[in-house]
Amino acid sequence: MIAVLKNGVTEVQKNNLIAWLKNQGVGVHLSEGEYQTVIGLIGDTSRIDIDLLSGLDIIEHVTRISEPFKCANRRFHPQDTVVEIGSGENKVLIGGGHFAVIAGPCSVESEEQIVGIARAVKATGATLLRGGAFKPRTSPYDFQGLRGEGLELLRKAREATGLPIVTEIMSASHLDMFEDVDLIQVGARNMQNFELLKELGRSKHPILLKRGLASTLKELLMSAEYIMSGGNENVILCERGIRSYDTYTRNVLDLSAIPMLKELSHLPVIVDPSHATGKARLVEPMSMAATAAGADGLIIEVHNDPEHALCDGAQSITPAQFDTVYGKVRSIREIIGKQTR
Ligand code: PEP
Ligand code: MN
Repeated sequence: MIAVLKNGVTEVQKNNLIAWLKNQGVGVHLSEGEYQTVIGLIGDTSRIDIDLLSGLDIIEHVTRISEPFKCANRRFHPQDTVVEIGSGENKVLIGGGHFAVIAGPCSVESEEQIVGIARAVKATGATLLRGGAFKPRTSPYDFQGLRGEGLELLRKAREATGLPIVTEIMSASHLDMFEDVDLIQVGARNMQNFELLKELGRSKHPILLKRGLASTLKELLMSAEYIMSGGNENVILCERGIRSYDTYTRNVLDLSAIPMLKELSHLPVIVDPSHATGKARLVEPMSMAATAAGADGLIIEVHNDPEHALCDGAQSITPAQFDTVYGKVRSIREIIGKQTR
């Protein structure tokens, strides 16, 4: 349920109303925009007398939200959420007009590899460095990632370049190790690992939540809701392609998910053209298309030697190709009237 306040309501009136609502046993989420203040009510709202609430002279109107996702709902929070990642001069914003490009290898393989790639993508303009330390592989016989050592090497690359780091968590029991990770990724395979999502909801870490291989947008938003209802509103959604019947591409990039998610939710939406297509040569057109469709950022796999990559070489582009892709993405941003660094 949301209650929209009339213009000109005083702080005291607003605080009294919030206290009264909390007293009725519901959670309260306040969203103060330039033109409107919206109070979102979470939990068992059946205890609220909607006629009584609508009748208060400080209330413009009250509406029940029929969608099962509340915190993630745009009606709860009409203005775009801007997620802040990292700190100091390397702080990165995503959402609300701030566009970020995350680049780096599928997996961290060595210090030389990750630091070298970090320097190269930073020189082009990437604002965050990706790199998997714990890898969710279909086969237990494939490279599983350097794990703790991989995290250590990501820290070294951050020290060398200042780029905030993005890496995937696979188990809530690893949270301590991820304490200083700037943006924690929940991969497609863990999108519905509800215990992990609840743990992440208790932290304040920014979370990159990737869409499951066969998940609907509603399921993705409900997973975001698991994190947000725990008190962590720093969630970025990621469209990374969904399973279909065609075999030429690894997945099918659902471009319509971008405007649809942005209509339904205030959370930033980024796109992963690498996992969506599985083919390095398709990364450029899909990066451009996603940008044109209004994505708030991209996450792109970049490797110095794709042919010998330990994971996802076929979809990885080289730093030189990344430079070209980045230039084209910037041009698209200009065409749609937005600026990119
Ligand atoms: C990844 O980003 O390396 C990854 C495994 O992605 P996804 O979870 O989307 O498959
Ligand atoms: Mn990968």
